[in-house]
Amino acid sequence: MAGLGGGDVERLIQLLARLPGLGPRSARRAALSLLRQPEGKLMPLAQAMEAAAKSVRTCSSCGTLDSTDPCSICADGARDHGVVCVVESVGDLWALERAMIHRGVYQVLGGTLSALGGVGPDDLNTAGLFGRIEAGGVREVILALGATVEGATTSHWLQERLAGLGVVVTRVGHGVPMGGALDVLDDGTLAAALTARRPA
Ligand SMILES: [Zn+2]
Repeated sequence: MAGLGGGDVERLIQLLARLPGLGPRSARRAALSLLRQPEGKLMPLAQAMEAAAKSVRTCSSCGTLDSTDPCSICADGARDHGVVCVVESVGDLWALERAMIHRGVYQVLGGTLSALGGVGPDDLNTAGLFGRIEAGGVREVILALGATVEGATTSHWLQERLAGLGVVVTRVGHGVPMGGALDVLDDGTLAAALTARRPA
């Protein structure tokens, strides 16, 4: 696009416009804000992005993203490793962490079962969960998956897989939209959903 200050600026805008929640218009505003304060905004962001690109990895135990493996949650001895909360996405984990309502650990499935979407059991990240149960010490598995058809299907499938393994399986309160949507909920609603869990 002409008049946008040359190739580098245009490329920055194009890359920003690919981010969720940003269209071309917001991307132009963001780029302008960054470029106006190269020392205060642009360079720190560039450095944080480079650092994240180099260091962030997937936790081999729970599947979340962190700069260490195992992640800081799995490595935290103060958390209750006997209670595992199963979520669809890292975004859901972040929402629960922000609300500070779950003091156990997590399992991030990375999706939900979907016949239409071609997602089968082998595509879900469950190895860490069953590994931890096999190793002993897991008392409760909380299913915090969506109220969607896929979420319900996945919960049901997990429930069957977990039956007979000696763990209590619970589900979060009904009617709460989840599955990648937890982070739009306020902390009070999230807390209520987790507190209102019931036997699956
Ligand atoms: Zn982890």
